[in-house]
Amino acid sequence: MRVGWIGLGAMGYPMAKNLKAAGHEVWVYNRTPAKAKAHAEAYGTRAAERLEELAGAEAIFTCLPTSNEVWEAAGKLLPHLKPGTLWIDCTSGEPEQSRKIAARLAEAGVRFLDAPVSGGTAGAEAGTLSIMVGGEAADFERARPLFEALGRKIVHLGPVGAGHATKAVNNTLLAAVLLAAAEGLLALRKAGVDLNKALEVINQSSGRSFATEVLLPERVLDRSFPLTFKLGLLAKDVRIGSKVTEDAGVPSPLFHLTRELYQAAAKTIGEDADHTEAVKLVEAWAGEEIR
Ligand code: NDP
Repeated sequence: MRVGWIGLGAMGYPMAKNLKAAGHEVWVYNRTPAKAKAHAEAYGTRAAERLEELAGAEAIFTCLPTSNEVWEAAGKLLPHLKPGTLWIDCTSGEPEQSRKIAARLAEAGVRFLDAPVSGGTAGAEAGTLSIMVGGEAADFERARPLFEALGRKIVHLGPVGAGHATKAVNNTLLAAVLLAAAEGLLALRKAGVDLNKALEVINQSSGRSFATEVLLPERVLDRSFPLTFKLGLLAKDVRIGSKVTEDAGVPSPLFHLTRELYQAAAKTIGEDADHTEAVKLVEAWAGEEIR
């Protein structure tokens, strides 16, 4: 297929390369054009200097920070798109905004799928992402070969917005568990427990999670905090997660508390810090570090 890709960030850069490796003709566009040029040189994709150059594609992917940038890109590209083009949004976006984007694109006969991903930059690089898809079943089937180049667990969840809602719930769980684990580990450290040993046993017990199995031992305990996923982006996901529960009328004190905590963390520690640095909020309160 001829594919257009908008957004070569931490996730989009490796994902677009995997589409090319699967045999598709991939045109890449990025706000900072040097990244598109570097991508084309490294992987044999085609660098577009202007957004409109993507217009001949059968499928257009977006992987941008929020639904706002997707709305903007859709508005710019829409007059140039032919009916039947498939727009696949891998941004961790907002369900309500996605429904608006889908309706706007539908006026020109362009189909929309929300397809946010999980698995981090390592999963994007390896093509092993989980992909959570919202949209019509026929569009999902058309996009399946493209998804297969990007991920392993590919699930159609319902109409437009269902993928973004599921992703927001997933990331709110990740965010809440990371801070809860940080609180617990700080208490254990103050009690004189070796945290490597504590995690060793927790990870063979019922309290284990991605945070205890990967994030805390590999990125926090050694104080490396490598930048793979910005704290500001996780705070945005948790805001969406909290809105999803609110819109559904589900009382959700834990989701709302998590939203407050991550807003505070992003403000205090910085939007561009890695998401694992959120633990520094709890560390400051405890006057102790997780080591
Ligand atoms: P990055 O910040 O690394 O990249 C953002 C991309 O969007 C860059 O290509 C950037 O261009 C472009 N961009 C930013 N602002 C604008 C704008 N105003 N107009 C046009 N383009 C813009 O983000 P990630 O790749 O980490 O994240 C992308 C999406 O994927 C987010 O929704 C995030 O929540 C989600 N996600 C991230 C994961 C991760 O581990 N990083 C995991 C799963 C999902 P430029 O190069 O010019 O800055």
